[in-house]
Amino acid sequence: MARAEPRSFSTLSEPVVAASGAAMAIELIGDAWVLRILRSAFRGTHRFGAFLQELGVSRAVLTQRLNLLCSHGLFERDAADGGHARYRLTEMGLDLWGVLILMWLWERQRGTGVDGAAHAPDRPRRRLIHTDCGASIEPRYVCAHCASDVSPFDTQAVVVRRPGAPVDQAPAQRPRYRQSSRADREKLPRLMRLFGDRWNCFIMAAAFQGARTFSDFQRALGQGPAQISDRLSELQALGFLRTRAYAGSRQQYRLSPDALATFAITVELMQWGNRWLWQGRAPLTVHHTTCGNLLQAVLECPHCNKPLSRRNLLLSD
Ligand SMILES: [Zn+2]
Ligand SMILES: [Zn+2]
Repeated sequence: MARAEPRSFSTLSEPVVAASGAAMAIELIGDAWVLRILRSAFRGTHRFGAFLQELGVSRAVLTQRLNLLCSHGLFERDAADGGHARYRLTEMGLDLWGVLILMWLWERQRGTGVDGAAHAPDRPRRRLIHTDCGASIEPRYVCAHCASDVSPFDTQAVVVRRPGAPVDQAPAQRPRYRQSSRADREKLPRLMRLFGDRWNCFIMAAAFQGARTFSDFQRALGQGPAQISDRLSELQALGFLRTRAYAGSRQQYRLSPDALATFAITVELMQWGNRWLWQGRAPLTVHHTTCGNLLQAVLECPHCNKPLSRRNLLLSD
């Protein structure tokens, strides 16, 4: 039997955080090329050549990312007519629909930071239709138990201890993407600069868990001052962190409203990671303090109040 004990985010030890479903999902898809490949695939792109053309990516990078995504079970490769391989999302890959919808929603509400001349895959489509009721919607992300909106202020991390299962033991091999240079990252839409870079994600995760000062971040990430300072200034420039100096104390970093609005994406990444990377045995989950249940967050139509699924949603221009 699993025993759940609620803890505040700020007291979590680092190995537990590193092993959470969200962190493992970030290790797997926290790469700007991977996110763009996934978005294109959800738009119906299957062929190697079509990805090349749509994304403006090099053959070497595309081959490496597609191979990794296939070996980790998000895509499967089959030979199509004429010998050209097709890449199709598996059930595991398709189950990322919620993450991509929440990213679409964030970009729609908060802007992409890309100009109109950007590649089509980097521009959010204009409308999301719930085909069951026909409404053009901005979905709500709600608790399946009490139906209230999920927010970082009424959730608490929960460490689940299972006999014989060390909390810091990740069950799967993690891929390593070469981290892109800052100059390359600067060409990307704002949200991709956050979720397409695992160090930026880990800084944000530490901030959600209560890190405020430079030394808090250094402790949480176990990285050198140069790397931390580079990422903190990047996240400030992107508008995700703000600094405040308090009288008599050191400068503090606070999450901006844009950053707080990414919480739903992180929760959805955690739920996906818990389902597919931990097979339901994840050491970390989230407690909904509003209703007292373990959080099971779902996307809901604000028009007809029905839960959404990938089969009853349509993104259109
Ligand atoms: Zn609830
Ligand atoms: Zn509806």
